[in-house]
Parts: sequence; structure tokens; C-alpha cells
Amino acid sequence: MSTFTTARRLRADFTGPVHLPGDAGYEKLRGTPFAPIDPRPALVAEATGAEDVRAAVLAARDAGLRPAVQATGHGTRAACDGGLLLRTSRMAGVLVDPHRRLARVGPGTRWGRVLTAAAPFGLAGLSGSHTDVGVTGYTLGGGLGWLSRAYGFAADSLLRAQVVTADGRLVTASPDAHPDLFWALRGGGGNFGVVTALEFRLYPVDRVFAGTACYPIERAAEVAARYRDWIGGAPDELGTALELTSMPDTPETHPSVRGRRVLRLKAMYTGSAGQARRLLRPLVRAAGPALAEDFRTLPYAEAEMGGTAPGQVDLLRELPDAAVEAIVRAAGTDGGPAVEIRHWAGAMGRPGPGAGPAGPRAARLSVIADRPVPDLAAALRPYGGGAFLNFLHDPARTADAYSGADLRRLAAVKRRYDPDNVFGLGHNIPPAPAAAARTAG
Ligand SMILES: Cc1cc2nc3c(=O)[nH]c(=O)nc-3n(C[C@H](O)[C@H](O)[C@H](O)COP(=O)(O)OP(=O)(O)OC[C@H]3O[C@@H](n4cnc5c(N)ncnc54)[C@H](O)[C@@H]3O)c2cc1C
Repeated sequence: MSTFTTARRLRADFTGPVHLPGDAGYEKLRGTPFAPIDPRPALVAEATGAEDVRAAVLAARDAGLRPAVQATGHGTRAACDGGLLLRTSRMAGVLVDPHRRLARVGPGTRWGRVLTAAAPFGLAGLSGSHTDVGVTGYTLGGGLGWLSRAYGFAADSLLRAQVVTADGRLVTASPDAHPDLFWALRGGGGNFGVVTALEFRLYPVDRVFAGTACYPIERAAEVAARYRDWIGGAPDELGTALELTSMPDTPETHPSVRGRRVLRLKAMYTGSAGQARRLLRPLVRAAGPALAEDFRTLPYAEAEMGGTAPGQVDLLRELPDAAVEAIVRAAGTDGGPAVEIRHWAGAMGRPGPGAGPAGPRAARLSVIADRPVPDLAAALRPYGGGAFLNFLHDPARTADAYSGADLRRLAAVKRRYDPDNVFGLGHNIPPAPAAAARTAG
């Protein structure tokens, strides 16, 4: 079937707009916010509801076009060249149930919208470092935020999902219905179908104590070693990171750190300011006088502290002196990469019964550099391993995000719901061979 015929069929079955190469909408919607990917899909279809999603999946299959789903493009890892790009950004919406403390969202919803809707009820969802990120891709890939030490990965808070599967069925996955699919969705990414709605828990988080403090970069080695020891006693309600970075040379930056290489402490605490300052005191004392500090109590929705863009991510079980030295060697001087050491663990490491494959659960810390630093990766390798799907750019490394047992189970679920690997772009988990699926499923 030609692209033109597919487009004509879709236009008949589809409520949303369908764009072909040459259309203004096609140029606007085919891309991602990231330059390295420049997709040239055969057509772009903007879904307005679950029926549109069904129509697109079936039309793509009949035409032999590979479908790809995109809400924001923030997590798109492979170009949908020659395929059918299904945009879900028109399916954005949030319903908050304050009594049951849950939210139901459309697949095109960004975190900012959820936080705005939940805040009047004193509730929050487990968003990440930027409110611009899509809830669906973020949650399917695990979802690590500043509240994750207290409440786990966002995937752990998923309650149910409505999904269009590869054969065009609209199913609801929950602990009671399609439980294997429900398990796989909580960390297995976009492999199992197109999500058309998500329902997840909200938490009683209203105002938080949050912010950053900057110190001279020369303090980095000593403070990082202290941090490593100090996190052992940090409560789950306290999320922290240390970043070695260059501050922007802009008028908005505090004059004492403007354009300067610094060590930056980031923290968010869901309790009182007084208690937060007491908890942070040993670390702050070790760091010495701050060059600038903006810790304060503010609404959770406004506490965007940013994150180091993951150019290279190492997940560590421990941070021995040799690892600290390697980090400071790589990032302790002007012109070096920005490197963030972040505390994980807490509730992320204590999954409830039946929890999904989000993870890795055993990581105690992450070290994220904003660009590849091969020497640093080599120095950190003995102390960790694995990968976190949401921070993984290379689709060839998808398997690294899972334990062997989880990967086998994911492949078995994939075989059941997408045996032809229709949803095979990006971070793909190929279906298990039939015999293996019977054993693992
Ligand atoms: C600035 C920035 C900050 C970030 N911060 C964090 C963070 O703090 N914590 C964290 O965990 N991650 C973080 N991420 C990573 C982010 O969670 C992933 O990139 C995620 O995939 C983005 O989802 P999206 O829907 O916005 O992106 P999209 O590119 O729209 O989607 C990404 C992928 O998700 C899947 N997907 C999306 N929608 C659907 C659907 N309806 N059905 C099935 N599959 C779907 C598809 O596989 C798709 O390729 C960050 C990313 C950026 C760019």
C-alpha cells in the first residue's frame, strides 16, 4: 500500500490531522528537540483519542510501516524513517482524584500540567528534573525524580494503563487485568503497545525545602568523600546531589559564582526547613562558607533544580576514594565536563510485591557527565554497572537496563503482546522465541 493510500485511509478513519512530506505540519511535527535525530517518517498522524491510536496502529500494520510514538520527543532514541509517526501531544489532559490521591492522564501530558492540577489539593506526582518531560515516556522508562528516594520510581506508582496493543486491541492493564502487561509497562518502555491513558498515585507533598549551595571547586574532593559517608545516614525524605560544574556567565547568575567553576550541592527535603538544615549540617560544615545559596521552602511544583544532561551515566554501588579522585580529575577544572553525583537508593531499592522491572534497584549513586568521558567511565566501571532506561541514549544497550531474569520475562511478555515486534524502534526488547516465552511467561 502506498503512503498516499495509507494517508487516505487514515484520514477516513482518523479524527486528528494526518501530515505528509511537504505539508507544513509534517515539518513542524516530525522532529525531536535533539539535533542528532532528524527523522523522515512516511507520514505523521496526530491522535486525538484511543480510537485514533487504534486506527493508526492498524493502518501502519496493513501498510507495512513501522509505527513510532512521540509525545514530546524528549526520549526519542531512533529516527522513524519511512514509518508512521504517531504524535500524542493532542491527547494531553489530567484528572485529579484528591480523595483517592491519584491522577489520570492522557499520553501527551507533560509533568508541568500534572503538578499544576495536583498542587491545589496539596498533592504531587513523582516528576523528574524538568516539568517539560512527558509523563508517559518518563513513567514507562522508570521515572527517577527528587521524591523517588521517598516514594520509589514513578513506574512503581502506576496503578493502571490503557493500551492499544500491536493487534489493535484496546486493553486495560492493572494488577487484576493483563497483569503480565502491567508488570512490563512499569519499566519496559514503549515496547508493548501505545498507551492511551495512565493512572498513577499522587503523594501528600505540598511545599518542600529545596535549592542549591555553591562552594569553591577546590573543595570538591573533600566534600565528595564526605558526601559518600554522609548519605549512609540520610533519610528517604531527603534527595541530594553534588555537581561539579561551570555556572553560566549571565546576569541572572549570582555575581559571586557567575562564569565560575563550582561545586554545587542540590537538595530537596519534604519536611521542615529546620530539620533539613540540621540534616545537611555535617555536609555543609565540611564544605565551608558557601559562595551562594538559595535554599528555601517553596511549592514542589516550583522547585525545578535542573539536572546534568546525561551524556554518560554510571550507576554505582559504592564510591571509594579512587572513584572520587577520578571524578575530580575529570571535572575539577575549568573546561571540564559537568559531572553530577546523585544519591539513589531509599524506596527505589525496596520494591513492593510484584513491582515492575524499573531500575536498577541496587544502584546507590549515579555519576552523570554531560558528555562522554572515557577515562572516567573506565575508572568507575569496577564500582557499578547496569543502566537506567530513561538515561540511556544508545538503543544497542537496552538490555543493560535489566537483570537477566527481568529481561527474559520482558521478552516473554513482548512475545505475547507484540510477537512481530511492531513496536521495535528505539529501546527494543525483541520477543522471546515461542518455547522460551512459555517457560518465562
Ligand atoms: C530535559 C530532560 C530532563 C529529564 N529528566 C529526567 C529525570 O529527572 N528523570 C527521569 O527518569 N528521566 C528524565 N529524562 C528522560 C525522560 O524521562 C525520557 O527521555 C522519556 O522517554 C521522555 O518521555 P517523553 O514522553 O517526554 O518523550 P517522547 O520522545 O515523546 O517518548 C519517548 C519514548 O517513550 C515511549 N512512549 C512515549 N509515549 C508513549 C505512549 N503513549 N505509548 C507507548 N510508549 C510511549 C516511546 O518509546 C518513545 O520513543 C529527562 C529528559 C530530558 C530531555
